[in-house]
Amino acid sequence: MRFQSTRDTNQEKFTSAQVIRKGLADDGGLFVPESIPSLTFEEIKTLCSMDYASRAAFILGKYLSDYTHEELLEDCKKAYSESSFVGGAAPLHHVKDNLYTQELWHGPTAAFKDMALQIMPRLLSRALKKTGEQRKALILVATSGDTGKAALEGYRDVDQVCISVFYPVNGVSKIQKLQMVTQQGQNVNVCAIHGNFDDAQTGVKRIFADANAAKMLNDKGFFLSSANSINWGRLAPQIVYYVSAYCDLLNAGRITLGETMNVCVPTGNFGNIFAAYLAKLMGLPIGKLICASNKNNILTDFLQTGTYDRNRQFHLTMSPSMDILISSNLERLLYFVAGAQQTKLYMESLARNGAYTVSDAVKARIDADFCGYFADEMQTAETIRKYAKDGYLMDTHTAVGVCCAEQYLNQSNDQDVPMVVASTASPYKFAADVYTSLGKAAPADPLQSQALLSEHTGTQIPYPLVGLGEREIRFDKTIDSKDLLQEVLGFADTQ
Ligand SMILES: *Cc1c(COP(=O)(O)O)cnc(C)c1O
Repeated sequence: MRFQSTRDTNQEKFTSAQVIRKGLADDGGLFVPESIPSLTFEEIKTLCSMDYASRAAFILGKYLSDYTHEELLEDCKKAYSESSFVGGAAPLHHVKDNLYTQELWHGPTAAFKDMALQIMPRLLSRALKKTGEQRKALILVATSGDTGKAALEGYRDVDQVCISVFYPVNGVSKIQKLQMVTQQGQNVNVCAIHGNFDDAQTGVKRIFADANAAKMLNDKGFFLSSANSINWGRLAPQIVYYVSAYCDLLNAGRITLGETMNVCVPTGNFGNIFAAYLAKLMGLPIGKLICASNKNNILTDFLQTGTYDRNRQFHLTMSPSMDILISSNLERLLYFVAGAQQTKLYMESLARNGAYTVSDAVKARIDADFCGYFADEMQTAETIRKYAKDGYLMDTHTAVGVCCAEQYLNQSNDQDVPMVVASTASPYKFAADVYTSLGKAAPADPLQSQALLSEHTGTQIPYPLVGLGEREIRFDKTIDSKDLLQEVLGFADTQ
């Protein structure tokens, strides 16, 4: 399997190890596989009797062809072990009728980013050896909260790698912030940025595109790599759990082989839902892909009108990991429905005008698979309250997903089709907002909210969040995004 850039300016092809090592293509595009491998019904049947790690090794093997099956299986077994994912890697929870959540947050940081970031550092480590790389990989991450912690935890003390994470100073929850600033490990750096997530992401992207920065880092013995969901090593592991959900529905007798399920994904950077789209392209029987947004509903508008326009107000919501106006992975979808040449033009228009409009033909192709809904803050809170009353507690992001799934069910004839909502975080990561949504007054201290939420609902605080308040704060710096390069160079000198 070879890969190329979504903009394909140089018509260059890359191996999977190269792609995982590089992160972003030199022309600014994202890496995509040259062709989509198929997943047959026979294979799905075989996967049904496997555990999650074996399912993952099998699916990853279709894309990462320069890793052996033994290597992938060894890494997956370590990544998705019982001690790391307590209660299973991606258990399907039956909520009611045909509504399911797939809980992707049982890992070491209590958010779904662990699903990819527990495996990706292992893949990168192997990629460095496979490509004969002598330098250290410096991972740069812009995060709206969950990626940062999950990446820090995944890369901490991994050989030949160090990691620097930037987050918007007022754009992450207090618990997310506490998780990051108390991070352990010798090869990690955490820094706040004045501005919102897009400022942080643009700052990081600028360094990736800066030849002079690359040279200075090279002279110090480093090269840059990304852990954001623009990296293929992040995306490929996310395909696995959609296949796994389908197997679980089969095993539970809820569907027969070949029947479809629908998938609803609370979306920010469009990575998670794009992985579901890939699973569908491979042959997994997925009907509709429902793209769920919060009040930052740029994707809902895009899917409805065909115009992507980021010239709009940015809102801070209680689902901060979805507070995004540039959904980078959408570029990959455009590549598959419109081709590289057209994608390049759309992206140029986005950079120049902050907007682009796809052709009618392209829109029709997107409509065949996707539809978009959004939930505002009131609807999100109401969804949390309603389901908690029936005994199921969900976080703010998952609630956006469930609310949008309900909207879709009300407007379609798909009530008989199982609907799987990606549940992307533990309610305890956003305890204050969840507690407030239940009609309670949340205390100022988020850790107290966790305790009260646990007491009120009789559910347990997940292991990664226990004792958060007692940990030492190691990082407390806030900088302007223009000073990002200086921060990175300074960190490199300590490594
Ligand atoms: C990252 C994240 C999302 C959005 O996922 P994308 O792949 O960026 O679309 C949703 N919910 C939570 C809790 C997240 O951490």
